Amino acid sequence: MSEVSVTKNAEGSPPAGDQLVVLDNVNKHFGALHVLQDIDLTINRGEVVVVIGPSGSGKSTLCRTINRLETIDSGSITIDGKPLPQEGRELARLRADVGMVFQSFNLFAHKTVLENVMLGQTKVRKTDKAAAEQKARALLDRVGVGTQADKYPAQLSGGQQQRVAIARALAMDPKVMLFDEPTSALDPEMINEVLDVMQQLARDGMTMVVVTHEMGFARSAANRVVFMADGRIIEEAEPNQFFNNPRSDRAKDFLSKIL
Ligand code: ADP
Ligand code: MG
Repeated sequence: MSEVSVTKNAEGSPPAGDQLVVLDNVNKHFGALHVLQDIDLTINRGEVVVVIGPSGSGKSTLCRTINRLETIDSGSITIDGKPLPQEGRELARLRADVGMVFQSFNLFAHKTVLENVMLGQTKVRKTDKAAAEQKARALLDRVGVGTQADKYPAQLSGGQQQRVAIARALAMDPKVMLFDEPTSALDPEMINEVLDVMQQLARDGMTMVVVTHEMGFARSAANRVVFMADGRIIEEAEPNQFFNNPRSDRAKDFLSKIL
């Protein structure tokens, strides 16, 4: 399990500089639906936070607000000390600090694997082509798909495509990586090859927010489990504490259905 080395102050919370993503009293509605309710959540540098909860509880919306794919109605979100801007060039830059991996891969179908991993670097980071290619190849090797570089996404298995999606996100040198059910669309035999890449990333110290139903991953990789229901954070705890001794009835009920 990855160790988080944060210097704790007297109150036991890490100093402000170690707080990478801070959501403060965030609220969001979809029409009459109060999808995020008074969300307070701090993610520290190097921390792996696994978000679990029933379908419809707001997990995806939470992820999408963190890189501003969704606006919020009230409250604030800061990333590395900077408030998330509403639009413009600042937003593009800040969004590039937040890597996102979706359930459905979302690779560009008409670009090769290599081009998929180069594109953000050349367009957003303004990296020159040779450097972008070198970095893309190194990242594709790192996630175990280096030999697939010249193929198109459709020629790859789901597990390979998802690893390309992870490489593409990493190519932007994000400060934090968000994973929204990255293995939910995969055939069972491909789940572990993606989880293994995520485990390694966690061990390498990447700050990660992971929405997943893979409780084995949560137990072994998470520093903290956040349990959501009905748009609220009901419970936050270390994985052992959460899985062995959930405090709330909602969490007990949820765990009894999935474990
Ligand atoms: P989860 O990821 O936990 O399953 P979501 O964040 O996807 O939950 O959705 C939370 C609730 O918000 C659900 O009731 C869903 O139907 C609703 N919802 C999500 N996206 C939208 C949208 N764009 N417009 C309206 N309702 C939405
Ligand atoms: Mg979801």
